[in-house]
Amino acid sequence: MQHLDFITFLLQLPQQCKEFVSEDVLQFQLPRRHHDCPYCGGSHTSVDKYRTQILRGVPDVRITFIYKNRRYRCTECGRTFSEDRPFLKKYQRMPESVVEDMVSAHGDLLTDSYIARHHGISPCTVSRHFLRAMRRQDANTLDIPDTPQGGEEAAPSAFPTVLSMDEFRGNVGAKFQVAIHDLKERTCLDIIENRTTHLHEAISSIPEASRMQVETFSIDLSNQFRSIVAQYFPNATIAADKFHAMRLASDAMDTVRKNVQEKMKNQNEKLSFKKSRKLLLSRFQHLDEKAKTRLEKLLAVDAQLRTAYELKEEYHSLFDAANHNDFLEKVRVFSCHAEQSGIRSFRSVARTTQEWKMEIWHGIATGYNNGFTEGCNNTIKVLKRIAYGFRNFENFRYRILYLLNNQERRQRRSKPKNQTSAKK
Ligand SMILES: [Zn+2]
Repeated sequence: MQHLDFITFLLQLPQQCKEFVSEDVLQFQLPRRHHDCPYCGGSHTSVDKYRTQILRGVPDVRITFIYKNRRYRCTECGRTFSEDRPFLKKYQRMPESVVEDMVSAHGDLLTDSYIARHHGISPCTVSRHFLRAMRRQDANTLDIPDTPQGGEEAAPSAFPTVLSMDEFRGNVGAKFQVAIHDLKERTCLDIIENRTTHLHEAISSIPEASRMQVETFSIDLSNQFRSIVAQYFPNATIAADKFHAMRLASDAMDTVRKNVQEKMKNQNEKLSFKKSRKLLLSRFQHLDEKAKTRLEKLLAVDAQLRTAYELKEEYHSLFDAANHNDFLEKVRVFSCHAEQSGIRSFRSVARTTQEWKMEIWHGIATGYNNGFTEGCNNTIKVLKRIAYGFRNFENFRYRILYLLNNQERRQRRSKPKNQTSAKK
């Protein structure tokens, strides 16, 4: 629930409730209202005393706010209690709207210390409030049953139907952490602490009925991810990420370039070769005439380099396949060429492609890939850099989820691509 901004709340109070006790200290109280006793329900209550509280964290003002908290005493049971105050939670010294602003500041790439300075409080207080808000949100989400319970009439829960899974280099605990994304809504579903030890546990804790709803799962060419998806998401089509697949041939091409480069004696020649990396990796169809001439000169240096280049081009054309049969035929021909070439790096590309041809085709056909996921990984990288590392995984996880799923931030990012152009 969004609370009324504290300053607006203050401005709306009757004039006689506010008083500047010095130039930069504003003291205020709420209008007096009748309160029933919260303990015995008695209606005979009277003002007992006032307790002054200095409010913290209000940004952008040089004023100290003192709240004269009115306490009542019940004449029936004798107990005392505080008045209702919509702007401030029990035991808090920071207005609720200020806490909300502070939490929502985590939706941008800001450091805790920046947020702390803005509010004139300590970074520890900032992260404590953020954690508390996130835990509360989690607890609220858990109140809604994830799986339809009991009767067949129960509505299916809205679990995403298109997921992706990717690892990234974490800096709390495990070396590799895993992000699971909803590719349709373009949101982050979860961050898993450890690829090696926590992945099975985390995935299997998703209710079965939800897992059964997943139709497409995009992954990179990882055997571990493939077997997990096959095990836990039996209805999902596995789509291998196009960019990872294409990189196989680029990497093989680069290996050949390095080998040729190594054999060179002339230092200048070597250097110009090193600079040609990008030229060799670009697709031929994207080169202008000048680049094509440079390329021709380069390929004339070494026969194997030329073969490798042709294989790379052939491989990348797999992704232009018009239909499944066309794709399979192209893979078959490419594999023959790769084997015949005797180039080790390309033979290995051919073998991986054979192992993954079904998934690679699904990636092409559905149009789903890890582009969004890679973008998220970059955001996480920036977050890690500005936050100087997280010491605590829970904090790190919440921070990533909050940042990636921030509505405003997401609206600034590109809209999802139309998936209707999918190939049959
Ligand atoms: Zn009472």
